[in-house]
Amino acid sequence: MSSEHQDVRLLLGAYVLGALEDADSGRVQDHLSGCQLCRGEVAELAVLPQLLRRRSTSTMTGSTRTSATGATSSTRPGSTALLALGALLCLAVTYIHLADQGGYPPSGWFPGDTDPQYIKIGYYLLEAGGVAAALLLLLRRRLGWVLALPIAAGPFIGYVLTRTTGLPDATDDKGNWVGTLGIASLIVEALLFGLAWGQLRRPAD
Ligand SMILES: [Zn+2]
Repeated sequence: MSSEHQDVRLLLGAYVLGALEDADSGRVQDHLSGCQLCRGEVAELAVLPQLLRRRSTSTMTGSTRTSATGATSSTRPGSTALLALGALLCLAVTYIHLADQGGYPPSGWFPGDTDPQYIKIGYYLLEAGGVAAALLLLLRRRLGWVLALPIAAGPFIGYVLTRTTGLPDATDDKGNWVGTLGIASLIVEALLFGLAWGQLRRPAD
């Protein structure tokens, strides 16, 4: 029995999958009637076809889903999560600069104030641009990433200049690197720039 058992054992997988020729299939059935071990093995293997079927179904739904999103992303600038992150960072730049010029309650009122005048105007442009870029990103417009670049780089450069050489009529902050808001803005702007740059450099699909 043992050599027949060994032979048949090797056929059990194919038997369960229905892949055996009639002769072999009959041989397996004959053996099964007298071999409890093999019957047990067949019982265990019997779940395989179901698993395979379930797996191929889910693979098919998965690939359908992939191609659906693939089709979507070919007309869209980046994944929803990255667009949302970009929008959030743009709004953070706006928020930080509003806060820096006391432009929101309770410490101040919109739109806030800064000296000198040209920096105040720069802040306002930046804040409006941050909101505009966030909206464009939420609307899935590639232009949002383009606008995000100067919104990230502009205040970053301004921050460094006011801390090093100073800007005309703006020398108070020379050497003042440690403000929490300033550090937060540098981090947010660096992240935003990296993200926008990465998204714009992606091959247009
Ligand atoms: Zn057996």
